[in-house]
Amino acid sequence: MYYDMQCPYCGADDDVCHDDGAGYAEDEAHQHWCGHCEKTYVFQTSIDFSYEPSKADCLNTDDDLHDWKHIDDPWYPQKKICRVCEESSNGERASDEDHAKELIRMARIVYAFEQAQKALTDMCKEATESTVLGGPTFTRGQFVKFLSKDGGEG
Ligand SMILES: [Zn+2]
Ligand SMILES: [Zn+2]
Repeated sequence: MYYDMQCPYCGADDDVCHDDGAGYAEDEAHQHWCGHCEKTYVFQTSIDFSYEPSKADCLNTDDDLHDWKHIDDPWYPQKKICRVCEESSNGERASDEDHAKELIRMARIVYAFEQAQKALTDMCKEATESTVLGGPTFTRGQFVKFLSKDGGEG
């Protein structure tokens, strides 16, 4: 088991809790309470950068080899981003009418999502383990995927 640091008083292993982004700021003292000796000490954070290179064939050809993934944007129905190189393309801007239609469609999804989440929460109150969508909570993305027949992201 790997621990973030040891208490300077008693040497007990401890982990930094990064909930809500706490403890990430560099060059400042973060207070930490040791549950072992019950003393408070401070720690400073230093973040090490590491880089992981990988091939991006789509950037080395004139052909469109990008692995496009559709992005929901009411103004740009064709908006997409490459899963490999993260290059994005907006495509044509929607007409005012299409934009309005898309907003309504998305609002319906949000509404249905909230209803589904409520229903799922109710179902999970009784069951200890949910088999629906893999758990008692799910993201909007998972829900949209669940709704679409092919299960793909387009
Ligand atoms: Zn301690
Ligand atoms: Zn690409």
